[in-house]
Amino acid sequence: MAFHRLVADLHLHSRFSMATSPQLNIESLAATAAEKGIGLLAAPDFTHPAWREEMRSAFEPSGEGVYRLRNPHNGHAAAKSPDFILVTEISCIWRQSDRSRRVHVLLMAPSFETADSVSETLANYQRLESDGRPMIKLSACDLYSLALDADPRCVVFPAHIWTPWYGVYGSKSGFDSLEECFGEHAARVPAVETGLSSDPHMNWGVSDIGDRAIVSFSDAHSAQTMGRELTVLDAAPDYDSVRSALFENRVLETVEFHPEHGKYHLNGHRKCGVRLAPAETPPDGRCPACKRPLTLGVAHRVSELSDHTPESPVLKDGLLHGVEPNSRPYRQLVPLRELVAQGLNAGAGTKKVTAVCQALIHEFESEMNVLISAPRDDLARVSEARMADLIIAVREGRVEVQAGYDGVYGTVSALT
Ligand SMILES: [Zn+2]
Ligand SMILES: [Zn+2]
Repeated sequence: MAFHRLVADLHLHSRFSMATSPQLNIESLAATAAEKGIGLLAAPDFTHPAWREEMRSAFEPSGEGVYRLRNPHNGHAAAKSPDFILVTEISCIWRQSDRSRRVHVLLMAPSFETADSVSETLANYQRLESDGRPMIKLSACDLYSLALDADPRCVVFPAHIWTPWYGVYGSKSGFDSLEECFGEHAARVPAVETGLSSDPHMNWGVSDIGDRAIVSFSDAHSAQTMGRELTVLDAAPDYDSVRSALFENRVLETVEFHPEHGKYHLNGHRKCGVRLAPAETPPDGRCPACKRPLTLGVAHRVSELSDHTPESPVLKDGLLHGVEPNSRPYRQLVPLRELVAQGLNAGAGTKKVTAVCQALIHEFESEMNVLISAPRDDLARVSEARMADLIIAVREGRVEVQAGYDGVYGTVSALT
């Protein structure tokens, strides 16, 4: 079979999920995907009835179980419109072993008929109109059964596995193993999404993950943040190829945040301004300021569940390579908007930052090209030398990080 490079963002949201941008409609998803260099995008939030109908009428099939915009907007040639695949996030809430469990999972479906059927069953548990990412009182295992009843080709895997409240391994309401959470379906879980606050290297030491694919997606709640993490699959844009790429771990590379950039990397208390690395944390896990339990972050849980310390990856041509059997190369990037803001010493939301980003994206066709492959001299010609230096610094791993904790994003600045 021919070799493909499918750049995929399979976890994001529409304007029908809570706390999302009202601009998240189908056209803006498609247009932003083209700018970012994404080839396969989740058709998200598909259990929401009105939004599912909106997607159904905007799409035409572009292959088996994948769709494209029927009428791409001006300036976005059909050839640049991404393919969409039905992937939605479900918040499962249940009690198990005397503890309340909250685990977010991604559910991938092969057709709108399957999405209809899954939604029809889930409507018995929740008003699906209320949130594009519905909260369902079902275990992750029962949800998987329900999806397989709708279509045996459905796939379920856990989202942002380390986040304290909703990660399958999270400190607040998670588990110590995938088996405990997914039960009889654990072997059918092909992949784990690492989330912003962990990177592949942190996951290689956790043998519970086994040979599952370690994937990264954006979990975007606005168009701007789409593609901030991505997975490049060796797959064709059709459902079965993507599905088998997950099961066979055909991950070519992932694009990552620096894990410190995420908002749950270290332990801490936002209100108390307390941020602690796992080694600095008191053994009782309590806040030195207020004495209440700290929010134990991702690094802490990773250290609890790791059974060995994986060798550090080696940076070569912008990609970090590990030696573990399930390791795949990955890049650590900083969103272009943040780099340009640093370069101009201006706010990330300002017009001048937007103008420079757009000029670069226009010249090099996508944000991905700007960040990973555009030559320094060309970058300097289109923007200025300082901007080019910042982009190259990130590729070469020269950054300074301030780690995030308890819901506070970390910061990453490029060093020149
Ligand atoms: Zn989530
Ligand atoms: Zn405190």
